[in-house]
Amino acid sequence: MIDASSISVQSTALAFARHGHAVLPLTWPIRVNGRAVCSCRKAADCISGAKHPLGRLVPNGLLSASTDPAVIRRWFADEPQANLGVVTNRLVVLDVDPRHDGDSSLAALEHAHNFPPTWRVMTGGGGEHVIFKCPEGVEIASSQARDNPLLGPGIDIRARDGYIVAPPSRHLTANRYAWSVDHHPAEIPLAELPVWLAKRLASPPRQIDPPRLPQPYQNWLKLTREPVTEYADLACARFGGYLVRHLDPAVALDVLFWWNEHVCRPPLEASEVHRIWRRIVHRHAERIMAKEAHDA
Ligand SMILES: [Zn+2]
Repeated sequence: MIDASSISVQSTALAFARHGHAVLPLTWPIRVNGRAVCSCRKAADCISGAKHPLGRLVPNGLLSASTDPAVIRRWFADEPQANLGVVTNRLVVLDVDPRHDGDSSLAALEHAHNFPPTWRVMTGGGGEHVIFKCPEGVEIASSQARDNPLLGPGIDIRARDGYIVAPPSRHLTANRYAWSVDHHPAEIPLAELPVWLAKRLASPPRQIDPPRLPQPYQNWLKLTREPVTEYADLACARFGGYLVRHLDPAVALDVLFWWNEHVCRPPLEASEVHRIWRRIVHRHAERIMAKEAHDA
């Protein structure tokens, strides 16, 4: 039996494939004892609930993804309940997680930069996907904000070797992934990744040649001998991390405020510096606790 929603999963899949983006079927939510769990064998124990490749149809995961309409029709006829995954090798998707301040990071980027209208998806879990076309010849890697916050906290990058869950897939919350109003493929074209964003995501952090000095001064020098004119939020997170590892947190905050006022051109808002510091202190405490638990 094929219901209306599965037809539109399939038609969305075919639309992405027509634009050269490989797709694949994913697991979906089922209800067990009144609770939504992943349709895979692990059910409630699945850590990637209702959003990982459907092994039965795509045994090699992303490598099995396809742009072939016949293959795609067969998959979604075979498993009409399946959620839809879209491979992001030729896309760059900002995966915004409000639980980790991703919405404020996104707002800051939109405020500071040219941010063209493009496709956007409200994910079933309360987050948002902002989708761009990856320009020819540009290579952007997938990355997680918690490992390397390129765009601020709470924004992961889904690009090469990654995938997204696409509308109208169903989330474990029972909500569907849905195109955002005014950002629907039927209304606007998929925008190419803006140059400023491509630069920020593609280029490695700027290297400043440090002079030969005793080790503890190196980080300080790197972050104070030249004005910081771009990516001040990243520099602040890096410098703040260094300070919090070596100083009393309150002293670290004072130094961070001083550094922001005197080194950043223009300085960040004080509230932003405070927020970055709070996050670092929180993470630092978590790391210490994890280490103590591990050593105990
Ligand atoms: Zn699963």
